Amino acid sequence: MKTGIHPDYVEAHVRCTCGNEFVTRATRPELHVEVCSNCHPFYTGRQKLIDTGGRVERFQRRVAKGRLRGAQQKQQSSQPTG
Ligand SMILES: [Zn+2]
Repeated sequence: MKTGIHPDYVEAHVRCTCGNEFVTRATRPELHVEVCSNCHPFYTGRQKLIDTGGRVERFQRRVAKGRLRGAQQKQQSSQPTG
């Protein structure tokens, strides 16, 4: 093996957004992942949405707000315009 061109292969502490943590080996000592073998549907066997950083929740909130606004507009403009 040629020396001086390979990165260090060290113990890596991996932290997932689901809260799972484990230690493996990588070229970096600290890793942050969005999905791991503990929460990925392939391993859990369950169908579920993978929510990265509350994006699904934010979308649902936006949809709810849009619906609310649409209902209010309907009440206000009972007379046809144009
Ligand atoms: Zn995970």
